Amino acid sequence: VPVSNIRNFCIIAHIDHGKSTLADKLLQLTGTVQMREMKEQFLDNMDLERERGITIKLQAARMRYVLDNVPYCLNLIDTPGHVDFSYEVSRSLAACEGALLVVDASQGVEAQTLANVYLALENNLEIIPVLNKIDLPGAEPDRVAREMEEIIGLDCSTAIQCSAKEGIGIAEILNSIVTRIPPPNDTSQSPLRALIFDSYYDPYRGVIVYFRVVDGSIRKGDKIYFMASGKDYFADEIGVLSPNQMQVDELYVGEVGYLSASIRSVADARVGDTITHFGRRAASSLPGYEEATPMVFCGLFPVDADQFPELRDALEKLQLNDAALKFEPETSSAMGFGFRCGFLGLLHMEIVQERLEREYNLTLITTAPSVVYRVNCANGDIIECSNPSLLPEPGKRRSIEEPFVKIEMLTPKEYIGSLMELGQERRGEFKEMNYITENRASLIYELPLAEMVGDFFDQLKSRTKGYASMEYSFVGYRESDLVKLDVQINGEPVEPLSTIVHKDKAYAVGRALTQKLKELIPRQMFKIPIQACVGSKVIASESLSAIRKDVLSKCYGGDISRKKKLLKKQAEGKKRMKAVGKVEVPQEAFMAVLRLE
Ligand code: GDP
Ligand code: MG
Repeated sequence: VPVSNIRNFCIIAHIDHGKSTLADKLLQLTGTVQMREMKEQFLDNMDLERERGITIKLQAARMRYVLDNVPYCLNLIDTPGHVDFSYEVSRSLAACEGALLVVDASQGVEAQTLANVYLALENNLEIIPVLNKIDLPGAEPDRVAREMEEIIGLDCSTAIQCSAKEGIGIAEILNSIVTRIPPPNDTSQSPLRALIFDSYYDPYRGVIVYFRVVDGSIRKGDKIYFMASGKDYFADEIGVLSPNQMQVDELYVGEVGYLSASIRSVADARVGDTITHFGRRAASSLPGYEEATPMVFCGLFPVDADQFPELRDALEKLQLNDAALKFEPETSSAMGFGFRCGFLGLLHMEIVQERLEREYNLTLITTAPSVVYRVNCANGDIIECSNPSLLPEPGKRRSIEEPFVKIEMLTPKEYIGSLMELGQERRGEFKEMNYITENRASLIYELPLAEMVGDFFDQLKSRTKGYASMEYSFVGYRESDLVKLDVQINGEPVEPLSTIVHKDKAYAVGRALTQKLKELIPRQMFKIPIQACVGSKVIASESLSAIRKDVLSKCYGGDISRKKKLLKKQAEGKKRMKAVGKVEVPQEAFMAVLRLE
């Protein structure tokens, strides 16, 4: 089809508002995916995504659609639905001219809706408002449309009412994609520029790159050059996504497709990079490329020291597929050999941990996540510290800076008070409050990222009965009065339990942490002191009394199966223990600092 008949679009929505369901229906109605091959939610194809109901990796699909006897090519580019991946969201939006803005008509505008709309507006996208779930008895499309007009300032008189689930309004959506979203600019004569909006590692073919041709065209066999990574390759295979990969010889301006070029690691062809021809290079790369900067770090240690080489292999393999994952060896006297790993955020961290355990069969101890502190040393050096146990001694540092985030919370008005308390407890600085409708308010705070890592989101949800939503973005480093809190168990320092806390909170955290550890560490045959210290000063201490632990004595008679069960249970409990000196410390203890009352 000519470039004037191409439409590139994405779907933006708050989680659970129906993005995946709608995408499925668009694929069905255009005959792109037949009913019988339709697994539910075709676009979210990683197991983990399916289980968690989130979209992690972007995918794309090409659809054919005929309107008034004219064939159109519609490219749907899926976007991940979590703040950890907002850079990926912004690059996938940059590959489009328009966006369907899906809002659940029984819920209304949420924090992610807003964040995604801002990104779409920054990328100059034509936005088509869609009110989904009108089949629900509680749907109020008119009220929600007014809300969208008020909050976003978007004309919603032409908003489409639909039910992705029941298949209502789908054709109308396809028609408006054609009539309202502009075609790509025809820059077919310019040197090639293609925007990478996704890439993944295939063990047989190397990295598969998903891209949008922004200028010029690309042919199979072309020698190509990646402008950010500086690497060059031959495009062995190019093709379209329909939605399965289908080889073609050439892709023209405006088109969306994939290529493979025996690329060894996704870091060489990262999201946001620009592909051009090696021989006829574009003068400048497409805007918006950013290096991946991990915001959250933790230690990963194999429970069984023999698994260290396997852990390294597994991390290397995952990194081929994940340019944002960083790791380096870490040794600790308490934990032995392991790795310090960097992630974009908590969800990213959990995904990597889960994959290491599921796909690589590793049993790991994970230490509590830490942000990256910037330490101004007495000798004038500035160092980045992502491992609390390595923080320079007080005499060797002048000040510590920590990363701050701006968060926007949307909440029904009755919970404003409890969210303000939450903001206060987490060292937040109140910035703004606005009523976005009569009943709902937006609260803006700036607070340390360290205070958000952990249970902030759970707290937000539980304090508002699940009704509030939030979004955050990094705003920069600020100086704070921080100290290092160390933990000793049975007289031995346990470095992985060290944390960096605000000076005013040290006593409270120390007390809560020692109490929590006392609950979590199983009693042993001897008495165990548990202490929290700042410097050489003990600020809190507990003691775990001794016990004679004989599980089997609880069994009466010779009930073999029950005995087995008990033994099995005990063995499972052991699985995630790490011997620190003479004391067995369970996984939960290493995360205790995140769950203090
Ligand atoms: P996503 O997180 O935005 O991708 O949302 P999903 O497509 O996964 O949908 C979230 C939930 O809402 C699922 O349980 C869907 O079955 C349901 N859902 C999606 N669209 C509709 C709809 O039009 N009507 C109703 N009643 N439920 C829907
Ligand atoms: Mg989804």
